[in-house]
Amino acid sequence: MAHTQDTDVVIVGGGISGAALAYLLARYTDIPRITLLEKYAGIATLNSHGRNNSQTLHCGDIETNYTLEKALQVQQGAALVARYALQHPARDELIFKYPKMVLGVGEKESALMRERFRSFSPHYPTMRLFEATDIARIEPEVTRGRKEEIVALGVTDDYSTVNFQRLAIAFIEDAQASKRVTVEMSAKVQAITPENNGFRVHTATGDLRARFVVVSAGGHSLLFAQQMGYGLQYACLPVAGSFYYTPTVLNGKVYTVQNEKLPFAAIHGDPDVLMPGKTRFGPTALILPMLERYHYNTIPDFLRVFSLDAPVMKVMYDLFKERDVRRYMAKNVLFEIPGIRRMLFLQDARKIIPQMQLKDLKFAHGIGGVRPVMIDKINRKLHMGEAKIAPGNGIIFNMTPSPGATSCLQNAARDMHSVVQHLGARFDEAAYKKTLG
Ligand SMILES: Cc1cc2nc3c(=O)[nH]c(=O)nc-3n(C[C@H](O)[C@H](O)[C@H](O)COP(=O)(O)OP(=O)(O)OC[C@H]3O[C@@H](n4cnc5c(N)ncnc54)[C@H](O)[C@@H]3O)c2cc1C
Repeated sequence: MAHTQDTDVVIVGGGISGAALAYLLARYTDIPRITLLEKYAGIATLNSHGRNNSQTLHCGDIETNYTLEKALQVQQGAALVARYALQHPARDELIFKYPKMVLGVGEKESALMRERFRSFSPHYPTMRLFEATDIARIEPEVTRGRKEEIVALGVTDDYSTVNFQRLAIAFIEDAQASKRVTVEMSAKVQAITPENNGFRVHTATGDLRARFVVVSAGGHSLLFAQQMGYGLQYACLPVAGSFYYTPTVLNGKVYTVQNEKLPFAAIHGDPDVLMPGKTRFGPTALILPMLERYHYNTIPDFLRVFSLDAPVMKVMYDLFKERDVRRYMAKNVLFEIPGIRRMLFLQDARKIIPQMQLKDLKFAHGIGGVRPVMIDKINRKLHMGEAKIAPGNGIIFNMTPSPGATSCLQNAARDMHSVVQHLGARFDEAAYKKTLG
């Protein structure tokens, strides 16, 4: 890119969110010029890379941290991803069938499973309640040597796993086939400024003038928003997740019940589609002062979007005043310390595999991303899930912690409609319905 170029839409960020939007705009609208700018040399190398997330297509059936309302919302987002992936010629690289379950351990959690089955199963026709004998058949290592009562609910024959980086590449390839999409790699956006009826997007190699800008740059989206005076009601709390590997002990995904006092999902174990022969356990939940895992140059960016003012301090105080949260957070710090981390993580992982041995458990070095969790300063609480800042003037900022990869098409469809409306473009609803339903 040299000097100043004109385009209709700029998408900042080539993770799964930006890629999904590029695909939708190219495939279902008549917008002539769409440009995606990604600061690294590849598509979806950060949180959307399968190495750094849990690869789960979240349908809401086994996530005990979701209310029924939230579950039904993610169910729709997951269906869009599944429909796209299953029609793709490379579907076997995109989406995978594994059994999945959420495991209730002990009397209280088992009762919860039974209750949840009653309220959720009408909405999830393939969901089953698994008693100990069923669990032993599906996941023998989960029951081996176990004394406590267990009950699970789950699904044995459904698409539960996605290689989100491969999916993002598929979106980009489809988008580029339209010849209306330009994808620029190693194109770091330095600033966005309003100009005439649109925006100027500044990069080191030149500027772009765009009529609409969508920023899907993880925690950096908030930084761009705040530099432009938007989203000042938010701060960003980056919550990193690490993983551990064992040789294969599970046939599918086994989630555990979330402690309701903790805002972060409990650990699970599952096959890693990128590492055949291994089962992966995690993710942990570690508050880290950086917007990108292992990228220490993003510490200053974190300091800009954390802004430790009175509302943020109140949220942090409320969070840490719970004894369970303090213990959990401290434990998650210890999970990173060589020498003791495997021993400590083993205690948690044994909730899933009671006979797991220390020698089989390895810390997954360099693996795991960061969830940019938003702090809502007005309501003084954590805002779980995706957040969007859309001032209505041709710019949108997306911040996407879990289940952001599952919701990529659902969220991108919202942005597509905003772009179409703002630019007066055409949306090919018939083609959209035919492909994505
Ligand atoms: C440990 C963990 C487990 C998870 N598990 C799941 C799961 O099982 N299922 C699920 O659905 N979700 C999961 N998530 C969440 C999911 O990974 C994210 O919601 C999703 O990947 C976000 O995609 P994104 O494109 O919005 O952001 P990212 O993937 O973070 O992409 C943002 C992109 O913006 C680029 N960028 C940043 N700044 C600039 C700039 N200045 N100029 C140009 N480009 C820029 C970055 O390089 C990056 O490529 C998990 C997350 C974590 C951390």
